[in-house]
Amino acid sequence: MSNTIYNGNLSDKMPDEQIFTAIEWLAEQMPGGFFIYRADEGQEILYVNQATLLIFGCETIEEFKEHTGYTFRGMVHPEDYEEIQESIDEQIADEDNKHNLDYVIYRIIRKDGEERWVDDYGRFTYLPGFGDVYYVFISDITETRIAQEQRERNEQLERLLAEAEQANMAKTAFLSNMSHEIRTPITAILGMNEMIQRESSDPAILEYSENIRKAGTSLLRIISDILDFSKIETGRMELVLEPYSTKALYADLYNLVQLRAESKGIGLKFEVDPQIPEKLLGDEIRIKQIISNILTNSIKYTERGYVKLIAYLESIQDGIANIEITVLDTGIGIREEEMARLFEAFDRLDVKRTRTIEGTGLGLAITKHLLSLMGSKLEVESEYERGSSFSFYLKQKVIDETPVGEVDFTQIEKDKRNPLKKHSYFVAKDLKILVVDDTPMNLQVIKGLLKRTCMKIDTASGGAECLMKIGSGSYDMVFLDYRMPNMNGVETLDEIKRRFPDFYEKVPIISLTASAISGDKEKLLAAGFTDYLAKPVNIDEMEKMMMKYLPGDAISIVDPTAKGNDEAKGNDVAEENPAEEEDDELWELPKVLREYKGIDAGKGIEYCGDADDYMYAILTYAKSVNDKAAQIEKNLAEKDMDNYIINVHSLKSTSLAIGATQLSEKAKALEAAAKEGKTDNIEEDTKQLLSDYRELKTVLDAALKE
Ligand code: ADP
Repeated sequence: MSNTIYNGNLSDKMPDEQIFTAIEWLAEQMPGGFFIYRADEGQEILYVNQATLLIFGCETIEEFKEHTGYTFRGMVHPEDYEEIQESIDEQIADEDNKHNLDYVIYRIIRKDGEERWVDDYGRFTYLPGFGDVYYVFISDITETRIAQEQRERNEQLERLLAEAEQANMAKTAFLSNMSHEIRTPITAILGMNEMIQRESSDPAILEYSENIRKAGTSLLRIISDILDFSKIETGRMELVLEPYSTKALYADLYNLVQLRAESKGIGLKFEVDPQIPEKLLGDEIRIKQIISNILTNSIKYTERGYVKLIAYLESIQDGIANIEITVLDTGIGIREEEMARLFEAFDRLDVKRTRTIEGTGLGLAITKHLLSLMGSKLEVESEYERGSSFSFYLKQKVIDETPVGEVDFTQIEKDKRNPLKKHSYFVAKDLKILVVDDTPMNLQVIKGLLKRTCMKIDTASGGAECLMKIGSGSYDMVFLDYRMPNMNGVETLDEIKRRFPDFYEKVPIISLTASAISGDKEKLLAAGFTDYLAKPVNIDEMEKMMMKYLPGDAISIVDPTAKGNDEAKGNDVAEENPAEEEDDELWELPKVLREYKGIDAGKGIEYCGDADDYMYAILTYAKSVNDKAAQIEKNLAEKDMDNYIINVHSLKSTSLAIGATQLSEKAKALEAAAKEGKTDNIEEDTKQLLSDYRELKTVLDAALKE
């Protein structure tokens, strides 16, 4: 049974008046607004419920009457009235639709002046005694509408953001591709140029060629920066952790920037804490990149004064060394207001002064990101026109706690400048390798630069030719480019495995890949390559790879610094074993040193690298003896145990670095005793320690004279 009030059922049961009372009662109970108005010109309101008054912010019907004039027109925001009235009129004009609910949204103005949004369900009908009227359900939708608008705005923003990201990615991909494309010919140019440098002795040509090298290298640097930056942008930058030598790291850095500082006439000083462990675990290449970015900036932006690097061992805890690295300069400084832009990519500061200085504004953006990958961050302090300081902490796992010892960087500099000190290389007359690359220029460069190895070098310009050559010849090693048309490196490798399984088993096959990006190495090794080499190919790296995988007895190392070694000697100089090498170094040392019982010179050489470096370590060590001994005596006399421990600790590690093992042991025992507060024999033992220490100095002095 239907129970609507319109089908007459209700009027059968109760008189009209009662029906209206019932309707009114219902309307008053409704949480939403309800009103009735005449469907004529005047739009006079006939009934309005309490909820409607509340929507309009009115407390009484009188207030409402006064506020709206008691007409429908008076209820609607003047700016919205025309539009909604039109839509209502349209519906009534449509005979089929006129009695259906119409739906409109408009603004109203509350009594307190606030604008609100309402929705309005109206029904055109006939009310006996009144004629045509509208029944209207009205509710305040301002909050939902605001929420919806917000949602739409967010959606719009998200869309815009996605578009911007898309555009940025496209830019990054473009930069990355361009850089790859430029890098290949540039390395070919540099490779060809290196051949000129090796083969020409005409000073004019050598000078031109040196200029090509400088310009090419600087272009290559810019391109590498752009590549790094695009790797960062696309989240493909990853760290590769390997053990490295602290001494080699700082020595390389020193060598890298020394000439530049010198040619500008500014001082360069490295203070590397002798206590820093010699072997650490980390991404040496990226660490070098970070520090060299900061150092080169300091040199670039300094005209007078000096640039100084300080590496300080803050602590070693649970096998992790925490090292603070600071680079100070007396350069142009950075204005406080420009500081915030320091790390912006492609942004350069103080353009008036820096525009004539080479730079892209990428260095620090890359540095910042690399540091964040290492869980660190760059702190910058600067005073405009006075200088700057850049510092950060580096936490590295300790592989070998042996301290790096005193390093004399000025000596390293001398070695570097000695033109005789060229890289050693190898000769392997009986070996044959195959290089596969689709760029003829690359093949030519590789062939030219490997000429000195006297190997037979065969080339192929694609996968198919590679397979043909393997089928008909024998090779000791294959270098296979990854990106080639028709058949790429992995596809070619799969064919080799299938057709020549014996060859695949025996012969190392190295992948040449343009992008050493994250995950690539694993993929290539999983595909079955023996190893991989990043392109553009660096010949030194390529030769290293060969020395690693080619049969050792077929290779002879050539030391270009040795006398009469301009040409390859042949098999009789096969790779020396390190122990023999050390023995040879030992004979370079002064006799007093070799024979003195308190010193294990072999260990000293092992720690310091070679006899030359070892002698320098001894020189600095000997110089510091008097001071340090006096300090330790003073510490003890003043019962200043904190400094006593520090000085004895340093004596322990520096002694160890020069091979004075027994002295180091004694210092170690005293350090431990002092730390534990066992001071009964400390005076006696310290006396003994310092007497040994001073005796050692007389031996070292004698050795240095010799
Ligand atoms: P750039 O390739 O321009 O050197 P960076 O990202 O390395 O790019 O540095 C950004 C900017 O910060 C530089 O252009 C320079 O204005 C400023 N800057 C960096 N290092 C120093 C410094 N040691 N002294 C003064 N200004 C510096």
